[in-house]
Amino acid sequence: MSMSDCLFCKIVAGEIPATVVHETPRTIAFRDISPQAPVHVLVIPRDHHADLATLTDADPALAGEVFATAAAVARQEGLTDDGYRVIVNSGPHGGQEVFHLHAHVLGGRALGPMLS
Ligand code: C5P
Repeated sequence: MSMSDCLFCKIVAGEIPATVVHETPRTIAFRDISPQAPVHVLVIPRDHHADLATLTDADPALAGEVFATAAAVARQEGLTDDGYRVIVNSGPHGGQEVFHLHAHVLGGRALGPMLS
């Protein structure tokens, strides 16, 4: 499934440029355009799923692949020793702005308390 007006679907389709750092058959990882840490990568499924619940209902194995790609990105970016954070924002209170499920991979500095 794809959505013609979805920003991240356009990145998957190559219609909007992105710095891709990792690809698998069903996921893609690219650098966040507004990085909040020295390493800030977004991992998305190639297929369009709006949020975490939609994805896990439709294709829980794909949700697992998103997390596996997040871990692979962290390893590739050299974050394994010092650690890193993976975040999935969901809905308005979660701060979700793009409604194509994505996992943020953040690292390269101490990130401090999780909640704000
Ligand atoms: O979790 P949330 O939906 O708020 O995250 C969206 C993320 O997508 C933001 O971190 C934003 O910087 C990023 N973004 C991007 N490239 C775009 C538009 C947004 O990396 N063209």
